[in-house]
Amino acid sequence: MSIQVRYSIIIPMFNEEAVIQETYRRIRKVMGATGEPYELIFVNDGSTDNCAQMIEEYSYWDESVKLIDLSRNFGHQVAITAGMDYALGDAVVIIDADLQDPPELIPEMIAEWKQGYQVVYAKRIKRNGESLFKKWTASLFYRVLRYSTDISIPVDTGDFRLMDRRVCDELKRLPEKNRFVRGLVSWVGFRQTAIEYEREERLAGETKYPFRRMLKLSLDGITSFSYKPLKLAGVLGALLSASGFLYLMYVLYLVLFTDAAVKGWASMIGITLTFNGFVLLMLGILGEYVGRIYDESKGRPLYIVQEFYNGRPQQSAQEQ
Ligand code: UDP
Ligand code: MG
Repeated sequence: MSIQVRYSIIIPMFNEEAVIQETYRRIRKVMGATGEPYELIFVNDGSTDNCAQMIEEYSYWDESVKLIDLSRNFGHQVAITAGMDYALGDAVVIIDADLQDPPELIPEMIAEWKQGYQVVYAKRIKRNGESLFKKWTASLFYRVLRYSTDISIPVDTGDFRLMDRRVCDELKRLPEKNRFVRGLVSWVGFRQTAIEYEREERLAGETKYPFRRMLKLSLDGITSFSYKPLKLAGVLGALLSASGFLYLMYVLYLVLFTDAAVKGWASMIGITLTFNGFVLLMLGILGEYVGRIYDESKGRPLYIVQEFYNGRPQQSAQEQ
């Protein structure tokens, strides 16, 4: 028989050696104070530093510590998903390893959950210590996303949230490969509520989300939940061909009814470049979707677990 776990805390980490000890200490303190059984699921997303070894060591003497050691870096969203697949708790919390999401908020989330909410997400009312560029692009992204999708994905909300077992189980049934977890949580529905917080500065180390990865996450978010970019091609195409047609009429008028010579090569080049540019842009947008369809059709597993270290040797993740 396995021991009942009340809370599962999922902590994805990618080269977080500098912070992980403090993160572990703070989360442990907060969770210990709940007086209920919990598990800390650290997901090592292909780190090249020592953080996984540190957690492995903790798991030898703290039986609440578990480590999912992925075979390489699969990305933050996949790491979270791996954690959810292994979580046993009645409530599952996702939290960053860098203490930008304060663990001290978890009891507040638990209180809301006990009131009957099935998803409690943490909304950032302020971001401390992040670059203006990051704040602006993030803010822009959440608003574009809100405009382009039909489901309501809360703005300024990351993956720091608590989910009920029911929600976690439903999420596990969604097999998509290019995952945007916070969108999927909105998609599954259930009773959701928000608590607000000020996002702290990273305790130590560098962000693991350079611009390239932020762009990928944004595109995953938008393409997973909206066809609007594709429709854009139709709208722009219609507008452009309508204006092209009007221009053509104007030129025909000049040729047929006036003596003016039509000198057109500059405008020809201008129009050709603009039109070709739009066509390529639209091909690019199409490509974003086609690439994702291709990813789905390959049917590869989402991640590969190299090893699973379980604080409780008598209990395996598959048991429940
Ligand atoms: N992370 C991960 N895999 C990655 C990138 C990031 O597991 O490929 C983890 C990282 O260790 C951290 C969380 O995801 O716990 C959020 O990353 P980060 O703090 O670098 O992002 P930011 O807060 O700067 O957006
Ligand atoms: Mg961070």
